[in-house]
This record gives sequence, C-alpha cells and structure tokens, in this order.
Amino acid sequence: MTDRLASRLDTEGLAFPDLAPGSVWLVGAGPGDPGLLSLLALHALRQADVVVYDALVDQRVLALARTGAELDYAGKRGGRPSPQQPDISLRLIRLARAGKRVLRLKGGDPFVFGRGGEEALALAGAGIPFRIVPGITAGIGGLAYAGIPTTHRDTNSAVAFVTGHASDGEVPDGLDWEALARMPVLVLYMALKHLDAIAQRLMAAGKPADEPVAIVTKAATPEQRVVETTLARAAWDAEAQGLEPPAVIAVGPVVRLRAGLDWIGAALGRELDPDPLARDRLEGQPLSRKTGAS
Ligand code: SAH
Repeated sequence: MTDRLASRLDTEGLAFPDLAPGSVWLVGAGPGDPGLLSLLALHALRQADVVVYDALVDQRVLALARTGAELDYAGKRGGRPSPQQPDISLRLIRLARAGKRVLRLKGGDPFVFGRGGEEALALAGAGIPFRIVPGITAGIGGLAYAGIPTTHRDTNSAVAFVTGHASDGEVPDGLDWEALARMPVLVLYMALKHLDAIAQRLMAAGKPADEPVAIVTKAATPEQRVVETTLARAAWDAEAQGLEPPAVIAVGPVVRLRAGLDWIGAALGRELDPDPLARDRLEGQPLSRKTGAS
C-alpha cells in the first residue's frame, strides 16, 4: 500500500535530499488527516530507520512508515509517566550517533508549541546534522477542517496563537491578558483543561462575554467534533458535551464564518450560508470589535 502510494506520487523527479544515516529530520505530521502530510514528510517516512513519534501523530500517518522501520513512542500524555524532554533529545542524539536515519515526527508543526526548537538545539549542540520539515499546525489546518479561517478580510488582520498550558501545567503566567483581549482573533492550544480560567481572564481584561468561540477536538480526524459557543459559556459547554483533548479553540468573529464554510457539514447535508456575517452588519456591530468598545 505504501509502495503503491509512493510510486503514484512519483517524487523521484523532485530530487529530494536523502535522510542520511546519522542525521535527524524533525518533521511535522499535521493535525491528523494523512493527506495533509508534506511530500518531504512522506519521503522521510519512506527512508527512516527509526521514527520517534508523539502521542498526537495519527496512526494512519505512522502506517506510511517504511516496512521494517522501528516505531519509537516518545509521547507525553497528561498525568501518565512519559519520557522527559531531555531524554527525548538524548535518544535522538544516540540514535543518530549509532548511524540511524532518524525521523522525529511531531503532530502539527514541529516549531509551533511542539518543542521542535529545543530538540533541534540539542542536536546542534551535539553536532548532529538535522533538517526541519514544517507541518500544518492544528491552529490553522485543524480550524480549516472545522470551516473556520484564522484570518478573513472582513473580520481580522491579526491573530495570536496562545498556549493555555505552561510547562508547570498551569495557565501561563507571563501572558499579557489585556493585550490578548485586544487581539481580534485568538487561537488557543492546550487550553481545554484551563478553559474556565482562561475565559475568566480574557473577560476580566475586556473581551466581551458573548465573543464567539469554537472548540474543535480531534480536528482533521474521523472523530472531529466542533462545539460553537461563547466566551462566557465555553468551559461549561465543553464540560457538558464531554469534550476531550486534543482541542484547538478559536475565539473571535471568524467563528461566525463557519456557517458558510463548514465544508464537512455541507458534504453531510448542511446548508451553507453564503453571507454568514450579514447579521453582524444588520445589527451594526463592528465586525472586528475592539475590547470594551461595544
Ligand atoms: N505542534 C502542534 C501543537 C502541539 S501542542 C501543532 O502545530 O499543531 C498540542 C496541542 O495542539 C493540543 O493540546 C491541541 O491544542 C493542539 N492539537 C494538535 N493536534 C490537534 C488536533 N488534531 N485537533 C485539535 N487540536 C490539536
């Protein structure tokens, strides 16, 4: 199956570099759907001796690895014992020094809340050649699978990517909530657990209680779920609907566009609204509200 796929894609003529023995490629696997892999990611899966992968890497992506490749789980799952970050970097260094072709496969994009930078710095420090293969991050591609664009001309010309989970497991301290509350669109990663605290802080900093919110769990997988809500109700709705991570959360007027852009829903019979922002215009609401201005 894998061989057929590779030959049909025919990447031969593209003269991709080899994943050389003794080197490491840090590769983004995208949010789920294997169709969102890059050709370089597929090329690396076809060449790697060992694939060191995270919990968020979809099984269908791993299934594309070369027959005989060693699959090495390095994921971190909340609450369960799992390899510590320095251990993972050390493991990559050891495997490379043993002359393996090492593929470090991460969910989404390796440089977006993925610690890819830390691992690459460890490789640089050890003198191991490495390559970064970007992937489609959940906060863009995952939202697109829910029919939500991260930017749209009528709603926002900026977006902020925010993690809701610091390395100590708490809501990150160093965030300027007033500044975030003024951003027209926020995309929250790792935020389901602390959604109540995050929503409270944003509202205390001036984000309106009725700001549209979409929670997308297991985006770009067959189990994708989308709950549309508001900032004030988001944590309650997440709990009531039994939502579980991984979840990417959009906050802002782009969520309303889903009524016109839910292409997965449309394939299942949902009627799309070609002008989903019309109601906002009728109500005279500025489409990109400034905090406290409405
Ligand atoms: N490097 C990854 C992010 C890793 S942090 C990327 O670029 O996407 C882990 C967080 O990513 C999760 O808590 C969740 O917020 C988000 N995430 C990753 N895959 C996801 C998916 N398929 N659906 C929803 N959220 C996802």
